Amino acid sequence: MTTKSFIPPQRILMGPGPSDVSNRVLLALARPTIGHLDPAFVGMMDEMKGLLQYAFQTKNELTMPVSAPGSAGMETCFVNLLEPGDKAIVCQNGVFGGRMKENVERCGATAVMVEDEWGKVVDPNKLEEALKANPDAKVVAFVHAETSTGAQSDAKTLVEIAHKYDCLTIVDAVTSLGGTPLLVDEWGIDAIYSGTQKCLSAPPGLSPVSFGERAAEAIKNRKTKVQSWFLDLSLVMAYWGGDGKRAYHHTAPINNLYGLHESLVMLEEEGLENAWQRHASHHQALRAGLEAMGINFVVAEADRLPQLNAVTIPEGADDAAVRSKLLGDYNLEIGAGLGALAGKVWRIGLMGSACNMKNIEFCLDSLDKVMTEMGAKINSGVAVDAAKSAFESYAKAS
Ligand SMILES: *Cc1c(COP(=O)(O)O)cnc(C)c1O
Repeated sequence: MTTKSFIPPQRILMGPGPSDVSNRVLLALARPTIGHLDPAFVGMMDEMKGLLQYAFQTKNELTMPVSAPGSAGMETCFVNLLEPGDKAIVCQNGVFGGRMKENVERCGATAVMVEDEWGKVVDPNKLEEALKANPDAKVVAFVHAETSTGAQSDAKTLVEIAHKYDCLTIVDAVTSLGGTPLLVDEWGIDAIYSGTQKCLSAPPGLSPVSFGERAAEAIKNRKTKVQSWFLDLSLVMAYWGGDGKRAYHHTAPINNLYGLHESLVMLEEEGLENAWQRHASHHQALRAGLEAMGINFVVAEADRLPQLNAVTIPEGADDAAVRSKLLGDYNLEIGAGLGALAGKVWRIGLMGSACNMKNIEFCLDSLDKVMTEMGAKINSGVAVDAAKSAFESYAKAS
């Protein structure tokens, strides 16, 4: 009787996701709910497929959003491509590779791990050695953009090597899609999944996926049923598949799909290359500001993700206290370290709508104030100017 509506605070989201959702996308979510088989809705679904094909740079027919967050996209790839007794090579250089291993094992398959240090990229030579030692492997899986460390692996090279040994590839592009170059067809990726709440800046809860011909063929030739009813693509495609005949599988998250559609329209308006460029230029600005302050990056320069900046916590700064002051006093969220990096790093996201100079200046200024007050060892009062001039010189150079 006395419980009131929930009104969330207005935050600025500069963590590892979710990222800021623009008013344009929020308004799209509030449009009237219609039936999931309504011809108008089906028309929107067809557009959605084209928009996702653009974002992924693919002509794959089998391209659609799974009705659940990125983790469900991950699971969709594994449960459809693996059968009991199969072998998969999983490259791990952070948190998410570990989840891939879990997925492989829950399919009744064997995972051969190729491990690299957290903060480093996946080593193509180690992958090749593992493939030589395991000629019966069916799948190679890796994370393109490791959100737990901020490292970007060379997806094109890893896929090339996997194909040399006749393996299908599963690529995690949850954080890369829309933020950094990703060319599904040109690189020959067989199965890929992403999320909506990172560089696409739509609310969480959907996972765009795409499957190429070789993957589709492997799914068609399965000897066993996919162990998940909900994620079995042969059933899901009765709803998302082509030819206008849409059969009920589950009730699509209708309003959430309006939001994703709007964010993809915005991506198309901006242009994919421009979006990649925007993430790159703003990363240079944030980086200059943080470094001027005396804060160091975890990942080697050539391997850094522009949209996820993992930095070491300066001496004298209390990890949890800084983050909670930023949230409580400045309405600003940055990310904590995960797994092996917990307590050692912060993860500052520059994803989608959140990737702009206003946010960068605000973040640097707030960090400066909070840490100066705390007596942390930083150079105070220099970060914002350093960021601005780095941004200007980047713009001049390109
Ligand atoms: C966020 C993330 C996921 C999981 O996505 P959810 O939407 O949280 O399920 C998977 N992989 C990577 C690399 C991510 O950054």
